[in-house]
Formats: sequence, structure tokens, C-alpha cells
Amino acid sequence: MGALPKRKISKGRKNRRRANDSLKAPKMSKCPKCGKTKRPHFVCEFCGYYGDGKDLKKNK
Ligand SMILES: [Zn+2]
Repeated sequence: MGALPKRKISKGRKNRRRANDSLKAPKMSKCPKCGKTKRPHFVCEFCGYYGDGKDLKKNK
């Protein structure tokens, strides 16, 4: 017989592991400049545009 886990992972431990899975869901928004999908609050990787309606210079 091959290597097998000694104990079954309990429902609680399995659920705790699964609890983090939903965080990895991809959230995408659309770049208003080139129209490609980009991550929100990130610079567009296609055209380098960043504009989320916020003025970054006022953020001091
Ligand atoms: Zn873009």
C-alpha cells in the first residue's frame, strides 16, 4: 500500500481551509482608457493608466 494520511481531516479543519478560498475570487474592473480588464486600484498593465476618480495629489 502506498502512503496514506494517518487521520481523516475533520470537517472543522477542512472548513477552515475552505474558508479562505473565496478570497481568491478574481475581481476585475475595466480600464476606461483602453477598455481592457484590469484589477481595481491597480495601474492598467496594458496602457499604464490609473484613474479611479480620485486625485492622488490631494492625498497628502
Ligand atoms: Zn488601460
